Amino acid sequence: MPKVPITVAHGDGIGPEIMDATLRIITEAGAELAIETIDIGEKVYLSGNAAGIAPESWESLTRTKVFLKAPITTPQGGGFKSLNVTTRKVLGLYANVRPCVAYAPYVRTKHPTMDVVIVRENEEDLYAGIEHRQTADVYQCLKLITRPGTEKIVRYAFEYAKANSRKKVTCFVKDNIMKLTDGIFHKIFDEIGAEAQYADIEKEMWIVDIGAAKLADTPDVFDVIVMPNLYGDILSDVAAQIAGSVGLAGSSNIGDKCAMFEAIHGSAPRRAGQNLANPSGLLLGSVMMLNHIGQSDVAARVHNAWLTTLEEGTHTYDIFQEGTSKTKVGTKEFADAVIKNLGKSPEKLKKVDYSNAKALAHIHTVASVVARPKKELLGVDMFLEWTGGTPNDLGKQLSGIAAGSLKLDVISNRGVKVFPNGMPETFCVDHWRCRYTADGAVIQHDQIVQLLQNLVAAGFDVIKTENLCSFDGEKGYSAVQGN
Ligand code: NAD
Repeated sequence: MPKVPITVAHGDGIGPEIMDATLRIITEAGAELAIETIDIGEKVYLSGNAAGIAPESWESLTRTKVFLKAPITTPQGGGFKSLNVTTRKVLGLYANVRPCVAYAPYVRTKHPTMDVVIVRENEEDLYAGIEHRQTADVYQCLKLITRPGTEKIVRYAFEYAKANSRKKVTCFVKDNIMKLTDGIFHKIFDEIGAEAQYADIEKEMWIVDIGAAKLADTPDVFDVIVMPNLYGDILSDVAAQIAGSVGLAGSSNIGDKCAMFEAIHGSAPRRAGQNLANPSGLLLGSVMMLNHIGQSDVAARVHNAWLTTLEEGTHTYDIFQEGTSKTKVGTKEFADAVIKNLGKSPEKLKKVDYSNAKALAHIHTVASVVARPKKELLGVDMFLEWTGGTPNDLGKQLSGIAAGSLKLDVISNRGVKVFPNGMPETFCVDHWRCRYTADGAVIQHDQIVQLLQNLVAAGFDVIKTENLCSFDGEKGYSAVQGN
């Protein structure tokens, strides 16, 4: 078998130790890899590179397209960009897949039969990193959910379920509140789930708050769960922890061209250099990598040897428990034990079977090409910083400022209507959203420009404008609460 080129970063803290253990195990198991090593993380940050990765390292990554990465330490203090977020975005790694599995009774857990895979959207949502301080009082972070981005992640979740013989895909969103952003995620989940090719897979939707509670309490009712970035970030850590330990979970970050594999835990600096760390998370990340590059027989050998090692009670300190565990070992000795078990399969824990190698190799999803909708401009939300009095005072002043057919409709503060007919009890800050429309008629862009000029001429501090549009006749903006 030809050697597959991969890029490896040994990372910081416990990174080098767990990477050495992982590479030793997978090489002994027969992985055919041509390894290129790059430096990332603390050393690179502290050399003055705010991104934590040298330009020449991107060359290796974009050439090999496969990245096995140990955890890194992001130095405290301002100016340092998260390398994980940068890597995901630059390489277009839209799908983060995190299997969270219990290994009872060998690893303590309250959920002995848990076996959940979280498929997290990895590039969009509040992680677009578009934030502004708009007024003295108000800070804003934009939540962006796109149709192509959502189609790709939702289809990925269904394709993953199919390739891995999973029975159900659940969607977590909060579309009772965020009707447009989480609403489109839910709608696309329904659209893709309805396709005939996924007829055998059960589909289900939970509002994220009660879904999270259910996941923490009864994870066995879930199988694959797909969700937007922030919910997925939080709930995949919760899921990994309640399965037994964050130290045991591996993760893949998949894009159309490149993929990155890692442990979900961090660099655990307090444990570094002492031969203590558990290499299991990174090892399971490398198993996902071996499947991705088509070396599924090696992936299965490694995974089954690792399960056997857990079963025989050879445990690192983090999962060691008197009574269940037999031998407390360090990182190196744990790797030796796994190597000794290569070729064996677990007796009690479920043996893995990756014979469906082709389907696992590289799940590739594409977004559909949808017809551009007919877009009509119906008004504008003018956002003002203003501290000049009561909502009624502002309403009276703005009612006298118009631009052709464009007239003040409603004013809200933090989303709640305060004019006309607001409630005196509503707490207000210095940030006012003033909605101008033409009673449902279509307007022109120059009316917005004119309105902006009129407001500025009257002394108002306009902090931003947001167009109100319809798409194929459907409103593309939320109603004002209380209007
Ligand atoms: P952490 O995951 O490093 O550690 C949390 C706890 O788990 C600690 O008690 C640690 O000792 C233990 N632990 C983690 N991995 C373990 C392992 N393999 N074996 C045994 N015990 C393990 O999280 P943290 O302390 O919040 O962060 C430390 C550093 O890691 C920070 O600089 C953070 O930015 C970084 N970090 C990096 C990544 C990444 O590179 N993917 C992810 C998370 C955190």
